[in-house]
Amino acid sequence: MKIRRFGAFMSAVLISSTLVGFSPKNIEYNNPGTAAIAEEQLEASIVNLQALLDRMEKDGDIASPAVARTLKTHVTAVGHYENSKSYKKAIKHMESFHVLLNSYESKRMVSENAANLLRDYADALISKWDVIFDSGRVMDYLHQLSVEIGPRVAGTEGEKKAAEYLKSQFQSLGYDTSIQEFAINNRTERTLRILTNNKEIALGAATGSAVTGEKGVTGAIYHAGLGQPGDFSDDAKGKIALVQRGENSFWEKVQNATDAGAIGVVIYDNVDSLSPLRPTLNNNSSIPVVGTTKELGESILAQLSKGEVKANLVIHTHTNQTSQNVIAVKKPKNVVNPEIVYITSHYDSVPYSPGANDDGSGTSTIVELARTLKNFPTDKELRFIAFGAEEIGLVGSNYYVNNLPKEDIDRSLINFQMEMLGAKYEPASYLAVNTVDGKANTAWDYTNAAFDKLGKDKEKLILFRRGSSDHVPFHNAGITAACFNMGTSDGGLEPEYHTYHDTIENVSPERIQFAGDIISKAIFDFLADHNSQGKVLDEAS
Ligand SMILES: [Zn+2]
Repeated sequence: MKIRRFGAFMSAVLISSTLVGFSPKNIEYNNPGTAAIAEEQLEASIVNLQALLDRMEKDGDIASPAVARTLKTHVTAVGHYENSKSYKKAIKHMESFHVLLNSYESKRMVSENAANLLRDYADALISKWDVIFDSGRVMDYLHQLSVEIGPRVAGTEGEKKAAEYLKSQFQSLGYDTSIQEFAINNRTERTLRILTNNKEIALGAATGSAVTGEKGVTGAIYHAGLGQPGDFSDDAKGKIALVQRGENSFWEKVQNATDAGAIGVVIYDNVDSLSPLRPTLNNNSSIPVVGTTKELGESILAQLSKGEVKANLVIHTHTNQTSQNVIAVKKPKNVVNPEIVYITSHYDSVPYSPGANDDGSGTSTIVELARTLKNFPTDKELRFIAFGAEEIGLVGSNYYVNNLPKEDIDRSLINFQMEMLGAKYEPASYLAVNTVDGKANTAWDYTNAAFDKLGKDKEKLILFRRGSSDHVPFHNAGITAACFNMGTSDGGLEPEYHTYHDTIENVSPERIQFAGDIISKAIFDFLADHNSQGKVLDEAS
């Protein structure tokens, strides 16, 4: 009678990929009547766990068919979560399998020996799933960034809040995390806030508009049709005029509003568009003027039909602005001057945009990569950096790279930048590896290999020449760099890009999972392959 020790199979975990299984540790299933567990069944999997339950039931380690059925049903349900790659949920339900087992064990309906092995098996599965990239978790981070916080324009409170949120996330994962502050150019705020529901309306700048003070002008919205003289009554005085584009010129509308004593003008478009109207006045107005979309203008009208709508309009330039990078570091133990691997994104957004895909998706992805890599045995120094102020000219990443000491540059190995990984837009189903010179590099090689190893359709992988993201400063400093994004076959982006429609509703968890599976495989394999030969690694804890 052969009794196998599971512990022998625990050695080579995690090194090459998330997909290498764990086996239950150091437990013997030594029911005297039990035949040896086949070696191929030692790897923790739902199928093997079901087989184990069958065997235990047959061996009398489980007291009744009803108890066995309950346990198996629970495991089957967990298997559904695994199949749909909902690893966070699979883990949660496997944890409740423990609770179930404990209760049966205390009632002596499952033998102590069997319960120990099953618990160990469950833990092995949890450990296996815990290092797999989970788009469900990515969507949780993205909800915080794009819904709870919203627009994260460089220099604003929203951007600073996001930096604090990201810092707390990286810290809770055990990374050494800091915020690096830097100065940015003056920022012109252009805000129309509907005070009734505290909603901000996306605006386009009007050439020739007056500016306001920091607090702007506040008043009720006055619906003034097309902004013709007959559209204004005495009632317009002290209010913000809402007028539609068309018939007369923008300047005539503004003049008529000014003559009627309005304190500001909002011109909304008469055709549908994703971006707000940017009226050109051909003259300098004495009151603030902005443009918006047809959709948003009509949304204010709909509110007006229910009663008074108060709003605050600000066009003001802020000086002494700062932005910040969030830097999370994990250094290997016992390695002097380790090589550095950078996994980066930008967390700022363009004005009015919740920046869900651009680049909440990339930023949430690097948090998830940081989670899956937190115990990865490597002799590399990992640096996860969420850059600020990317949208105003790669300011955060340039600041970061330009301030790296030469010693750091010399030991910098590679940069993986994540940018826009989850557009729901149907044609954006291609994973682009963007390099500054358009040439294949190590990041490309590992991505290409990951497609093969994971059996993904190679048609969906493209190499593209593109700068315009935070991999550029790394490239310019002589560091191998690539930027990953999901786009169309010819490198195009979704129509919601850089508009207020870049919302979480337009982000696909399936797309993020597709990109995340490949990118995490590429990075894990890169780290495993570049691990120094013969060096004693940190134990995965
Ligand atoms: Zn971006």
